[in-house]
Amino acid sequence: MRSYKGLLLLAFGLAMAAPAQAVCDVGPESAAANSASIASLAWAPFRRAETGWYVYAPRIAHEIGSSCAFGSRGFAAALARWQAARQLPSHGRVDVLTMSAMIGGWHAQRPYVRLRASGSCPAAPELSALAPATISEGYGGKLVLLRPAALASYRQMRAAAWRDVPVLASDKRWLSIFSAFRAPVDDAARCAIEQNCQGVVRANCSVHRTGLAIDLYVGQARGLPPESSADSNRIAMSRTPAYRWLVQNAARFGFVNYAFEPWHWEWTGEAPLPDSDPSPGEMVPDAE
Ligand SMILES: [Zn+2]
Repeated sequence: MRSYKGLLLLAFGLAMAAPAQAVCDVGPESAAANSASIASLAWAPFRRAETGWYVYAPRIAHEIGSSCAFGSRGFAAALARWQAARQLPSHGRVDVLTMSAMIGGWHAQRPYVRLRASGSCPAAPELSALAPATISEGYGGKLVLLRPAALASYRQMRAAAWRDVPVLASDKRWLSIFSAFRAPVDDAARCAIEQNCQGVVRANCSVHRTGLAIDLYVGQARGLPPESSADSNRIAMSRTPAYRWLVQNAARFGFVNYAFEPWHWEWTGEAPLPDSDPSPGEMVPDAE
Protein backbone atom coordinates (compact mmCIF):
# COMPACT_ATOMS: atom_id res chain seq x y z
CA MET A 1 0.00 0.00 0.00
CA ARG A 2 1.34 3.40 -0.95
CA SER A 3 2.33 5.56 2.02
CA TYR A 4 0.73 8.89 2.76
CA LYS A 5 4.04 10.55 2.05
CA GLY A 6 4.23 8.71 -1.26
CA LEU A 7 0.77 9.89 -2.25
CA LEU A 8 1.74 13.42 -1.42
CA LEU A 9 4.82 13.15 -3.61
CA LEU A 10 2.73 11.62 -6.41
CA ALA A 11 0.20 14.44 -6.19
CA PHE A 12 2.99 17.00 -6.18
CA GLY A 13 4.56 15.36 -9.20
CA LEU A 14 1.29 15.46 -11.13
CA ALA A 15 0.78 19.08 -10.15
CA MET A 16 4.28 19.90 -11.38
CA ALA A 17 3.76 18.06 -14.65
CA ALA A 18 0.40 19.66 -15.44
CA PRO A 19 1.54 23.21 -16.25
CA ALA A 20 3.97 22.03 -18.92
CA GLN A 21 1.17 20.36 -20.87
CA ALA A 22 -1.11 23.32 -20.22
CA VAL A 23 1.47 25.66 -21.73
CA CYS A 24 1.47 23.61 -24.91
CA ASP A 25 -2.33 23.64 -25.05
CA VAL A 26 -2.66 27.42 -24.87
CA GLY A 27 -2.16 29.64 -27.88
CA PRO A 28 -3.63 30.88 -31.15
CA GLU A 29 -5.71 28.75 -33.47
CA SER A 30 -2.96 29.18 -36.06
CA ALA A 31 -1.50 26.01 -34.59
CA ALA A 32 -3.72 24.12 -37.01
CA ALA A 33 -2.13 25.97 -39.92
CA ASN A 34 1.32 24.90 -38.69
CA SER A 35 0.19 21.29 -38.53
CA ALA A 36 -0.63 21.54 -42.23
CA SER A 37 2.24 23.71 -43.45
CA ILE A 38 4.94 21.58 -41.85
CA ALA A 39 4.24 19.14 -44.68
CA SER A 40 3.00 21.50 -47.39
CA LEU A 41 4.64 24.96 -47.29
CA ALA A 42 5.94 25.67 -50.79
CA TRP A 43 9.09 27.78 -50.62
CA ALA A 44 12.77 27.99 -51.56
CA PRO A 45 14.65 29.05 -48.43
CA PHE A 46 18.04 28.10 -49.85
CA ARG A 47 17.47 28.75 -53.57
CA ARG A 48 16.10 25.24 -54.11
CA ALA A 49 12.38 24.61 -54.09
CA GLU A 50 11.24 22.46 -51.19
CA THR A 51 8.02 21.49 -49.50
CA GLY A 52 7.28 21.75 -45.79
CA TRP A 53 9.54 22.67 -42.90
CA TYR A 54 10.19 19.39 -41.09
CA VAL A 55 13.94 19.84 -41.66
CA TYR A 56 13.96 23.17 -39.87
CA ALA A 57 11.47 22.37 -37.10
CA PRO A 58 14.10 21.60 -34.40
CA ARG A 59 15.94 24.83 -35.11
CA ILE A 60 12.72 26.86 -35.18
CA ALA A 61 11.70 25.35 -31.83
CA HIS A 62 15.11 26.18 -30.36
CA GLU A 63 15.00 29.69 -31.79
CA ILE A 64 11.58 30.48 -30.28
CA GLY A 65 12.33 28.65 -27.02
CA SER A 66 9.51 26.12 -27.25
CA SER A 67 9.59 22.43 -26.40
CA CYS A 68 5.96 21.95 -27.39
CA ALA A 69 4.91 19.82 -30.36
CA PHE A 70 5.30 21.67 -33.65
CA GLY A 71 1.57 21.69 -34.34
CA SER A 72 0.54 22.70 -30.82
CA ARG A 73 -0.97 25.96 -29.65
CA GLY A 74 1.97 26.45 -27.31
CA PHE A 75 4.40 26.30 -30.21
CA ALA A 76 2.32 28.84 -32.15
CA ALA A 77 2.19 31.10 -29.08
CA ALA A 78 5.97 31.02 -28.73
CA LEU A 79 6.36 31.79 -32.41
CA ALA A 80 3.89 34.67 -32.11
CA ARG A 81 6.02 36.16 -29.32
CA TRP A 82 9.15 35.79 -31.47
CA GLN A 83 7.37 37.49 -34.37
CA ALA A 84 6.06 40.33 -32.21
CA ALA A 85 9.54 41.01 -30.84
CA ARG A 86 10.71 41.57 -34.43
CA GLN A 87 7.76 43.68 -35.56
CA LEU A 88 6.49 40.88 -37.77
CA PRO A 89 2.79 39.98 -38.01
CA SER A 90 2.41 37.97 -34.80
CA HIS A 91 -0.03 35.27 -35.91
CA GLY A 92 2.08 32.32 -34.78
CA ARG A 93 2.13 30.71 -38.21
CA VAL A 94 5.32 29.48 -39.87
CA ASP A 95 5.31 31.38 -43.14
CA VAL A 96 7.85 32.54 -45.70
CA LEU A 97 8.17 36.05 -44.26
CA THR A 98 8.86 34.74 -40.77
CA MET A 99 11.32 32.17 -42.00
CA SER A 100 13.18 34.72 -44.13
CA ALA A 101 13.80 36.74 -40.99
CA MET A 102 14.75 33.69 -38.94
CA ILE A 103 17.09 32.21 -41.54
CA GLY A 104 18.69 35.63 -42.03
CA GLY A 105 19.54 35.58 -38.33
CA TRP A 106 20.96 32.07 -38.63
CA HIS A 107 23.19 33.15 -41.55
CA ALA A 108 24.40 36.13 -39.53
CA GLN A 109 25.71 33.77 -36.84
CA ARG A 110 28.27 32.43 -39.32
CA PRO A 111 31.46 34.51 -39.67
CA TYR A 112 32.11 32.91 -43.06
CA VAL A 113 28.79 34.20 -44.41
CA ARG A 114 29.55 37.70 -43.17
CA LEU A 115 32.92 37.56 -44.95
CA ARG A 116 31.37 36.36 -48.18
CA ALA A 117 28.74 39.08 -48.00
CA SER A 118 31.54 41.63 -47.84
CA GLY A 119 33.15 40.16 -50.96
CA SER A 120 35.94 38.22 -49.25
CA CYS A 121 36.95 34.61 -49.68
CA PRO A 122 39.02 33.40 -46.70
CA ALA A 123 42.50 32.05 -47.39
CA ALA A 124 43.26 28.43 -46.59
CA PRO A 125 45.72 27.71 -43.76
CA GLU A 126 48.98 25.88 -44.45
CA LEU A 127 48.72 22.13 -43.95
CA SER A 128 51.29 22.44 -41.16
CA ALA A 129 48.81 24.63 -39.24
CA LEU A 130 46.20 21.85 -39.19
CA ALA A 131 45.81 18.91 -36.81
CA PRO A 132 44.63 15.40 -37.71
CA ALA A 133 41.62 13.86 -36.02
CA THR A 134 42.03 10.33 -34.77
CA ILE A 135 40.93 7.38 -36.88
CA SER A 136 37.91 6.85 -34.62
CA GLU A 137 36.88 10.49 -35.03
CA GLY A 138 36.80 10.21 -38.82
CA TYR A 139 33.70 8.63 -40.34
CA GLY A 140 34.63 5.16 -41.51
CA GLY A 141 38.20 5.78 -40.36
CA LYS A 142 38.66 8.68 -42.76
CA LEU A 143 41.64 10.93 -42.06
CA VAL A 144 40.46 14.53 -41.60
CA LEU A 145 42.29 17.75 -40.73
CA LEU A 146 41.11 20.76 -38.73
CA ARG A 147 42.51 23.83 -37.09
CA PRO A 148 43.76 22.57 -33.69
CA ALA A 149 41.47 24.68 -31.50
CA ALA A 150 38.43 23.67 -33.58
CA LEU A 151 39.39 20.02 -33.14
CA ALA A 152 39.75 20.48 -29.39
CA SER A 153 36.28 22.04 -29.17
CA TYR A 154 34.84 19.26 -31.31
CA ARG A 155 36.26 16.71 -28.89
CA GLN A 156 34.73 18.46 -25.91
CA MET A 157 31.39 18.66 -27.70
CA ARG A 158 31.32 15.00 -28.70
CA ALA A 159 32.25 13.91 -25.17
CA ALA A 160 29.39 16.02 -23.79
CA ALA A 161 26.96 14.49 -26.29
CA TRP A 162 28.03 11.01 -25.24
CA ARG A 163 27.40 11.88 -21.59
CA ASP A 164 23.99 13.42 -22.29
CA VAL A 165 22.75 10.87 -24.84
CA PRO A 166 24.30 7.46 -24.18
CA VAL A 167 22.95 6.00 -27.42
CA LEU A 168 25.34 8.32 -29.30
CA ALA A 169 28.29 6.67 -27.54
CA SER A 170 27.06 3.18 -28.38
CA ASP A 171 27.73 3.58 -32.11
CA LYS A 172 30.90 5.50 -32.90
CA ARG A 173 29.56 6.65 -36.24
CA TRP A 174 27.39 9.23 -34.51
CA LEU A 175 29.02 12.65 -34.66
CA SER A 176 32.11 11.31 -36.39
CA ILE A 177 33.55 13.65 -39.05
CA PHE A 178 33.11 12.81 -42.71
CA SER A 179 34.59 16.05 -44.06
CA ALA A 180 36.65 18.85 -42.53
CA PHE A 181 39.44 20.85 -44.17
CA ARG A 182 39.32 20.71 -47.96
CA ALA A 183 42.08 22.30 -49.98
CA PRO A 184 40.75 24.91 -52.44
CA VAL A 185 42.44 23.16 -55.34
CA ASP A 186 40.63 19.91 -54.49
CA ASP A 187 37.29 21.69 -54.17
CA ALA A 188 37.85 23.41 -57.50
CA ALA A 189 38.57 20.06 -59.15
CA ARG A 190 35.41 18.54 -57.67
CA CYS A 191 33.45 21.58 -58.73
CA ALA A 192 34.62 21.14 -62.32
CA ILE A 193 33.90 17.41 -62.36
CA GLU A 194 30.44 17.73 -60.83
CA GLN A 195 29.54 20.92 -62.70
CA ASN A 196 28.13 22.36 -59.49
CA CYS A 197 29.73 25.80 -59.48
CA GLN A 198 26.29 27.28 -60.15
CA GLY A 199 27.64 30.03 -62.35
CA VAL A 200 30.08 31.44 -59.83
CA VAL A 201 32.38 33.80 -61.69
CA ARG A 202 35.16 33.68 -59.17
CA ALA A 203 36.69 30.40 -58.07
CA ASN A 204 34.44 28.41 -55.79
CA CYS A 205 34.97 29.39 -52.15
CA SER A 206 33.83 26.66 -49.80
CA VAL A 207 33.94 27.29 -46.07
CA HIS A 208 35.72 23.94 -45.79
CA ARG A 209 38.90 25.72 -46.92
CA THR A 210 39.03 27.48 -43.53
CA GLY A 211 39.77 24.38 -41.45
CA LEU A 212 36.93 25.48 -39.19
CA ALA A 213 34.04 23.59 -40.81
CA ILE A 214 33.07 19.99 -40.11
CA ASP A 215 30.51 17.64 -41.59
CA LEU A 216 29.24 15.34 -38.85
CA TYR A 217 27.41 12.06 -39.11
CA VAL A 218 23.91 12.79 -37.81
CA GLY A 219 22.14 9.87 -39.44
CA GLN A 220 20.86 9.14 -42.92
CA ALA A 221 17.79 7.93 -44.74
CA ARG A 222 17.83 4.35 -45.91
CA GLY A 223 19.80 4.02 -49.14
CA LEU A 224 21.29 7.52 -49.10
CA PRO A 225 24.82 8.61 -48.13
CA PRO A 226 25.23 10.84 -45.07
CA GLU A 227 26.07 13.90 -47.16
CA SER A 228 23.11 13.62 -49.54
CA SER A 229 21.06 16.81 -49.63
CA ALA A 230 17.93 14.95 -50.75
CA ASP A 231 14.99 16.23 -48.73
CA SER A 232 14.22 12.75 -47.39
CA ASN A 233 17.77 12.53 -46.07
CA ARG A 234 17.66 15.94 -44.44
CA ILE A 235 14.31 15.16 -42.81
CA ALA A 236 15.65 11.86 -41.47
CA MET A 237 18.64 13.68 -39.96
CA SER A 238 16.50 16.38 -38.38
CA ARG A 239 14.77 13.70 -36.31
CA THR A 240 17.84 12.00 -34.85
CA PRO A 241 18.98 12.47 -31.25
CA ALA A 242 22.38 13.51 -32.63
CA TYR A 243 21.07 16.47 -34.59
CA ARG A 244 18.61 17.51 -31.92
CA TRP A 245 21.34 17.47 -29.29
CA LEU A 246 23.55 19.61 -31.52
CA VAL A 247 20.78 22.15 -32.07
CA GLN A 248 20.39 22.47 -28.31
CA ASN A 249 24.04 22.38 -27.31
CA ALA A 250 26.57 23.01 -30.10
CA ALA A 251 26.64 26.77 -29.53
CA ARG A 252 28.09 26.17 -26.05
CA PHE A 253 31.14 24.75 -27.81
CA GLY A 254 31.29 27.51 -30.43
CA PHE A 255 29.68 25.62 -33.32
CA VAL A 256 26.97 27.03 -35.59
CA ASN A 257 24.96 25.14 -38.19
CA TYR A 258 24.18 25.80 -41.84
CA ALA A 259 20.47 25.04 -41.56
CA PHE A 260 20.08 23.53 -45.03
CA GLU A 261 22.60 20.83 -44.13
CA PRO A 262 21.98 19.25 -40.72
CA TRP A 263 25.47 17.73 -40.91
CA HIS A 264 27.40 20.97 -41.51
CA TRP A 265 28.81 22.90 -38.54
CA GLU A 266 31.31 25.74 -38.32
CA TRP A 267 33.47 26.63 -35.35
CA THR A 268 33.42 30.31 -34.43
CA GLY A 269 36.13 30.35 -31.76
CA GLU A 270 38.69 31.70 -34.24
CA ALA A 271 38.19 33.85 -37.31
CA PRO A 272 38.78 32.53 -40.82
CA LEU A 273 42.06 33.70 -42.31
CA PRO A 274 41.98 36.95 -44.30
CA ASP A 275 41.40 36.87 -48.03
CA SER A 276 44.69 36.33 -49.84
CA ASP A 277 43.29 37.77 -53.07
CA PRO A 278 40.82 40.50 -52.13
CA SER A 279 40.05 41.53 -55.73
CA PRO A 280 36.35 42.09 -56.19
CA GLY A 281 34.43 39.44 -58.05
CA GLU A 282 30.81 38.51 -58.50
CA MET A 283 29.77 36.85 -55.29
CA VAL A 284 27.29 34.03 -55.35
CA PRO A 285 26.57 32.07 -52.16
CA ASP A 286 28.50 28.83 -52.11
CA ALA A 287 27.36 25.32 -51.48
CA GLU A 288 28.84 23.97 -48.27
ZN1 LIG B 1 30.14 20.94 -44.96
